[in-house]
Amino acid sequence: MSRVIDSVIECKGALILGAGIAGLFTALRLSPFPATVLAGTRPGLSGSSAWAQGGIAAAMGQDDTWESHAADTLTAGAGLCDPAITDLVAREAPDRIRDLLALGVPFDRKADGALALGREAAHSHNRIVHIAGDRAGAEISRTLADRAASTPSITLLEGFHAVELAFEDGRVTGLFARSGFGPQARLVLFRAPAIVFATGGIGALYAVTTNPLESRGEGLGMAARAGAVIADPEFVQFHPTAIAIGRDPAPLATEALRGEGAVLVDETGRRFMPAIHPDAELAPRDVVARALHRERAAGHATFLDCTQAIGASFAQRFPTVYGACMSAGIDPATQPIPVAPATHYHMGGIASDARARTSLKGFWAVGECAATGLHGANRLASNSLLEALVFGARAAQDIAATVAPRAARGTPDAPERFNSPAPPHVLRDAMTRLVGLERDEAGLTQALDVIGQVEHAGGNEPALLNMTAAAKLVTAAALTRRESRGGHYRSDYPHADPASKRTFMTLADADAIASSNISDERRAAI
Ligand SMILES: Cc1cc2nc3c(=O)[nH]c(=O)nc-3n(C[C@H](O)[C@H](O)[C@H](O)COP(=O)(O)OP(=O)(O)OC[C@H]3O[C@@H](n4cnc5c(N)ncnc54)[C@H](O)[C@@H]3O)c2cc1C
Repeated sequence: MSRVIDSVIECKGALILGAGIAGLFTALRLSPFPATVLAGTRPGLSGSSAWAQGGIAAAMGQDDTWESHAADTLTAGAGLCDPAITDLVAREAPDRIRDLLALGVPFDRKADGALALGREAAHSHNRIVHIAGDRAGAEISRTLADRAASTPSITLLEGFHAVELAFEDGRVTGLFARSGFGPQARLVLFRAPAIVFATGGIGALYAVTTNPLESRGEGLGMAARAGAVIADPEFVQFHPTAIAIGRDPAPLATEALRGEGAVLVDETGRRFMPAIHPDAELAPRDVVARALHRERAAGHATFLDCTQAIGASFAQRFPTVYGACMSAGIDPATQPIPVAPATHYHMGGIASDARARTSLKGFWAVGECAATGLHGANRLASNSLLEALVFGARAAQDIAATVAPRAARGTPDAPERFNSPAPPHVLRDAMTRLVGLERDEAGLTQALDVIGQVEHAGGNEPALLNMTAAAKLVTAAALTRRESRGGHYRSDYPHADPASKRTFMTLADADAIASSNISDERRAAI
């Protein structure tokens, strides 16, 4: 990247990239230690956080225990969770929910005033705290953004597009961010004694996704290009029930609907899940998503039928899903909802430890962009917002204890709006077709070719290089994992390998895998 820096801003304390729930909660937990939260879009409406529907998992019911929550998480993770991390997250979950209550988050309550706890797939107890049915993400994001805006130690800056980490003496000391786009773009260097990434997921690198289009792995790519170790990138979760009404991104029909008894059917009304798994519609997400994928590949249409389980109370109980369906002329109270699987959540990310520290000095990662070892090969529903809270609090504690604030200098001009190049369609299409629900060696090799072509065609545009780095890590790790486990299914290696371990790789490792698996066609072309 050419470095004609238009201004340098010295931040007093932590610089947090990302204003989803992970970034905002970290800033609030840091207070009174100073924090600057920098984001592409408006805090409170930013990232996947504002779109979360189901809620947050925490063992808060009378008959529930943190051990049971941890055990369910380990089962979903299919042998690759880090048990120490799983235990600490399940143990700390109720306290983090109490933190949100203290900040004013209005979780749904029962008539007796106790928290109303919902059930989602693969949870053995009712343990999902939720808000207004399916508005958990929107309400939590709004509350945290309001609190952050009125906290004197927090500065909120929106509309910046971060493109590269800055280093001094082997330590991460800053972030290059653009304001504006094209020839008018200005480059600002933000320097800070602690840098925290809370940049969300990678869904929009895929053509069919439930994620907002800003979730395209740029944080993961930036960290990888700076040399950070990346963990478990091949593990991507596909949500079975995105609403198939031709929208990009696809609106989600929350899993809570199946928790309430909604069933999956084909065009004739036939339920197909009971024949596939004893838990039928509440089987693990990867099992349900692959079942839908195969029904569709066999030429069937797939629907979520809520008419019996929810019926007339739909609009009031699931207002977000209701609105999405009605916008396409489907009344979910009386008609089945057309659904298809879509990329939803990234279990992999920037490798981080129990204090949210990464492999780079001065650099922490929290939320979906991090891989703590909580999720293993597959995330248990509603554990991701929980992970963001637990590690946001832990990063804050570590930074406040180990980093000294310093004098602030400079105020950035407010950018007009967030504007950055979108991931090319050819990349998104290749990721969905070749690195999706069912993978094999030929397809993954072809995908690495496409990623290489996109990388070359883009010149030195850093945003594009961040996206291709993220895509390459997912694909190279998927190619090397010759087994099927959790969210990763290889049709050429359909069984789990008992000797399997977590993946830890750098971008240099992924580059080496890509160049040793280059196809003959591509070798001839370069
Ligand atoms: C439709 C949907 C429903 C979901 N439902 C649930 C649920 O019920 N329960 C649950 O636990 N999880 C759920 N999830 C997952 C959960 O919402 C996410 O994992 C979580 O919100 C991620 O939070 P985050 O703060 O890490 O990232 P995000 O909320 O995605 O925020 C990322 C932030 O980084 C910023 N950013 C990224 N790159 C750049 C850049 N280059 N420059 C500037 N800014 C940048 C963005 O602007 C944004 O502010 C759902 C996800 C989706 C998509």
